[in-house]
Amino acid sequence: MSDREGIEEELGGPAASEMVGSMCRRIVASRSILITSHHHPDGDAFGSSLALGLALRQLEKPVRVASDHPPPQRYRSFDPDGLVEYWEEKPPHDAFREVDLGILLDASEPSRAGCLAELIGRPGMDWICLDHHPGQRSPVFTHHWIAPRAAATGSMVLRLIDALGVKPDRSIAISLFVAIATDTGWFRFSNTSPLCLRDAARLIAAGAAPEELYGRIYEDHSPERMALLGRVFSGLKLELDGRYAWSVIDRAILESSGVPREELDGFVEAFRGIRGAQVVALVVEVEPNEFKVSLRARGGAAVDAIAASFGGGGHAKAAGFRRTGDLGDLLRRLRSKVEETLSGK
Ligand code: 5GP
Ligand code: MN
Repeated sequence: MSDREGIEEELGGPAASEMVGSMCRRIVASRSILITSHHHPDGDAFGSSLALGLALRQLEKPVRVASDHPPPQRYRSFDPDGLVEYWEEKPPHDAFREVDLGILLDASEPSRAGCLAELIGRPGMDWICLDHHPGQRSPVFTHHWIAPRAAATGSMVLRLIDALGVKPDRSIAISLFVAIATDTGWFRFSNTSPLCLRDAARLIAAGAAPEELYGRIYEDHSPERMALLGRVFSGLKLELDGRYAWSVIDRAILESSGVPREELDGFVEAFRGIRGAQVVALVVEVEPNEFKVSLRARGGAAVDAIAASFGGGGHAKAAGFRRTGDLGDLLRRLRSKVEETLSGK
């Protein structure tokens, strides 16, 4: 895209072009920028943040990229210079003293930024948000660009980079390709659009090599992770006439497996291949009695409303939430919500 062409209708059209133009002016005027995304970043959150960080570096803007928890190991190799900083606990109050502009990517609720959440809305700092999850604009952000039809936040970041006048180099192209390819299940989920494929074509031309990237991300797992995936498949339960498939990884299983929690990324996708399953769920006990639930839908089913009813969110086909309490109680409530959804109530 060039400034002349403007932003495509499905990403928000002229209103989005205008907002992105105004975002660029705010970015150019800033002294120092912080980029962050949602906690436990996935490929889109990580790739989008890294790409925008690299682009702002090209503009010689003082920029830091920070995230609550590291992404899976396989993504970290895309950041050989260690541009992205990871925080597992709340940073000291003066950790980002110099920053006057924050940019939140791939999430719209400040709480999604995990231990960095308190920075959002901090006096003396403006915040910009780019997100492709459906939701309401929030006054916490001076600019809040929500494009629910964007396949990935990576497509939105590409347009912001274009508007800033930065030509994606090989590293930026790889980061954005990783963002878009991972959020579309390597261009096979229902969010795969002509537009995201055009973006991918541009990024390949700029140096992203799909086969090599796929191998680095999906064909480089530890034997321990594969063994755990086997256990999770063995523990799979089918309910509601096989339309609902779910499995649990409790503390004991997770600890004995030796697999770091972030390496569970991608497990729930494997369940989608079960014949007849319309809703699949993976429940992970991330802390004692604290559960992270990942939901995926197939066919006509949608899971965003189920996640929202538990205080979470996401897309129609991929959503999630966290919940503290009794596992049995959680599983019963979840089953009943899935049943309601599948019966069209
Ligand atoms: P995953 O299951 O891969 O963690 O997340 C799937 C989708 O649901 C992603 O788009 C993610 O942003 C969203 N999601 C997952 N957990 C939560 C949550 O606790 N709150 C919200 N608002 N969205 C979530
Ligand atoms: Mn995303």
